[in-house]
Amino acid sequence: MTGKVYLVGAGPGDPELLTLKAARVLKHADVVLHDDLVSAQILQFAPAHAQVRNVGKRCGKKSISQEEINFFMVTLAASGLQVVRLKGGDPLIFGRVGEEIAALRKAGIDFEIVPGITAALGAASTAQIPLTHRQSSHALVFLTGHSASGVDLTNWRALVSLGATVAIYMPGHRYSEIARKLRAAGLPAETPCAIVSRATTPEEQIFSTDLQGLKDAPRLPAPTLLLIGEVLRHAGNRLSFEEAEACWPSNEPSLVMHTDSEPSRRSIAGLGEKEQGA
Ligand code: SAH
Repeated sequence: MTGKVYLVGAGPGDPELLTLKAARVLKHADVVLHDDLVSAQILQFAPAHAQVRNVGKRCGKKSISQEEINFFMVTLAASGLQVVRLKGGDPLIFGRVGEEIAALRKAGIDFEIVPGITAALGAASTAQIPLTHRQSSHALVFLTGHSASGVDLTNWRALVSLGATVAIYMPGHRYSEIARKLRAAGLPAETPCAIVSRATTPEEQIFSTDLQGLKDAPRLPAPTLLLIGEVLRHAGNRLSFEEAEACWPSNEPSLVMHTDSEPSRRSIAGLGEKEQGA
């Protein structure tokens, strides 16, 4: 009898954000092939007899190629095993699942997709940012700061004309470049931005600024997500730019900086000013 592959989303970090279905599928796994971003706490849902293998990449170096991952999934399922391919966030978002689905279809392997909470939703929840708002944003765009070809395929003007909230995955430290492109495309310098590091985990950090100040943003620990848009003015957790500089006098990021006390006085660079006057 052939087995089956489950392409499962592990959510952004907090194990409680795993879906019930993901937990059930993991409990019945014979093999778990997981990415780096999946925490040990989540892997504990797999039974003791399951083979658990990290097939993620570290520091840009691939420990295992996509072709090898496809090969493992296909051969393990063909031998009758229940294989869980576990990815951070949601498997359908920036997770190369398209290539995996194609390989499974080609090999005639039965598979099922179990969605997860994507990083942007996890980050927005803990930072208390409404991603859409009746007054300021009717659209939400998930963008990658990194493309396989290295060529920038984003139509920044079209993006800005949408008036959308933008969530940039894999921004790296290309903050100046991203800010420059958005400014050149017509987004105002005072548009609020936030970098959310390790969202929904105990190490979460949030740095908020505006498009003008983005170039001076600290290098927070990966994974990080960049959120941009007017909706950030409604954020609950804020940090002023001056405060961040005081935390990192040598440009060395290090400190957890969640704060929602006195937001209107602490916030500069546009964040919170509207609410203050409202
Ligand atoms: N499938 C994933 C995204 C994979 S791409 C999802 O739906 O979330 C990997 C990128 O996701 C990281 O570089 C980072 O930009 C973002 N990311 C994943 N987990 C994150 C977290 N806990 N906090 C901040 N960003 C995160």
